[in-house]
Amino acid sequence: MTRNAAVLGAGPGGLAGAIALAQAAMAVTVFERAPQLEEVGAGLQLSPNACHALEAIGARAAIEAVAIAPPQAQLRSGRDDRLIFANPLGDIAIARYGAPYLHLHRADLQHVLAQRAQAAGADLRLGVAVARVGPDGGVQLETGEALVFDLVLAADGVRSSVRQHWFDGAAPRFTGQAAWRALVPRELAQPSPAGVTVWAGPQRHLVAYDLGPNRGLNLVAVTERSAWVEPDWRQRGDPQELRAAFADFPAAARRLLEPVADCQFWGLFDHAPLPHWVRGKIALLGDSAHPMLPFLAQGAAMAIEDAAILGLCLQADPEIETALARYQRQRRPRTARVQAVSRANAKLFHAAGLRASLQHGAIALVNHMAPGLGQARLDWVYGWRPALD
Ligand SMILES: Cc1cc2nc3c(=O)[nH]c(=O)nc-3n(C[C@H](O)[C@H](O)[C@H](O)COP(=O)(O)OP(=O)(O)OC[C@H]3O[C@@H](n4cnc5c(N)ncnc54)[C@H](O)[C@@H]3O)c2cc1C
Repeated sequence: MTRNAAVLGAGPGGLAGAIALAQAAMAVTVFERAPQLEEVGAGLQLSPNACHALEAIGARAAIEAVAIAPPQAQLRSGRDDRLIFANPLGDIAIARYGAPYLHLHRADLQHVLAQRAQAAGADLRLGVAVARVGPDGGVQLETGEALVFDLVLAADGVRSSVRQHWFDGAAPRFTGQAAWRALVPRELAQPSPAGVTVWAGPQRHLVAYDLGPNRGLNLVAVTERSAWVEPDWRQRGDPQELRAAFADFPAAARRLLEPVADCQFWGLFDHAPLPHWVRGKIALLGDSAHPMLPFLAQGAAMAIEDAAILGLCLQADPEIETALARYQRQRRPRTARVQAVSRANAKLFHAAGLRASLQHGAIALVNHMAPGLGQARLDWVYGWRPALD
């Protein structure tokens, strides 16, 4: 008899998870609260490890078709625009990792994954919120409808109600970081920065990368704050406030902020690694399991990796319970390490004074003398392949 699965959430994690479950011969229903796939947050970087995970669920070629492969990533000083570190990407990433480093609009990622999930047989129910789930596989919708599944995959994001109810009861913690996110029409941001560019300054950093002619230049401008008191964790931002916060950054960075007419302001939350991701028939995936700061650009990548491994576990083991235990065992250490490094990067990006000079000077020296060492530092993230331990 065909086993059935409910997926909560149609973010990158839920959609990739739906494809993986369908590939494991399950009948999949995805419940998404939003009435349409929202264009939240604009750009995403997808590193080679994410591309390998996309390949495992049969979506890599379709994603590559809507994405851009930048020639490099660079870290520059937010004081004087000096180059601190450059990591060659493009063909070099493909040669080193067997897959490209990409940028794309989040909506394009979601639409490709949604199409793939539906083509694999998943039923995508938009505008349908789940009220509660249980370890027995019970799923109650906000309409009152009650259903039962063999597996409940909770990909309900950083504010996961499933995590809070069944796993640890704690709300996500404010990280002391907040971000403006904006898109600028390409013609207003010429010359476009060469690849992913990060300007790092005291308590702030600015990230810019191109999303192609139809989408424009993606900007993420991060600033430190002692608390997040706003009622909503995402709200309309003020472009003037954004420009004022980066007024002492180099002209090359400031000119990208000039044309910003509209922006969003996000509180950035994460959570300490959870001891368990599985309870009965419920499994967490993506930000619900391991919310992290975006300072290694790995949140969606980890969600897609989770999906690829979950699919392999279910294909290898007919027992859902043992497959889920294997999934948790394999995914938890890696995602916990990525969470920790993402947090630590805040210190690297936001260093001030003498500490910044020393840190950035040391990185620049290594980059100059032995550029391969800088690249190798990220091999454990980018060099990952989807395989069972
Ligand atoms: C500033 C910023 C920059 C980032 N940059 C990158 C990057 O460059 N690269 C990268 O890999 N990651 C990046 N990320 C992280 C990435 O956006 C997240 O990790 C990713 O979206 C997580 O996907 P998810 O599917 O787990 O959760 P989400 O994308 O949050 O999706 C969860 C979904 O669940 C739905 N939902 C919630 N509750 C219910 C319910 N009860 N019933 C039905 N539906 C429900 C929500 O509506 C939502 O659609 C960035 C994040 C931020 C904030």
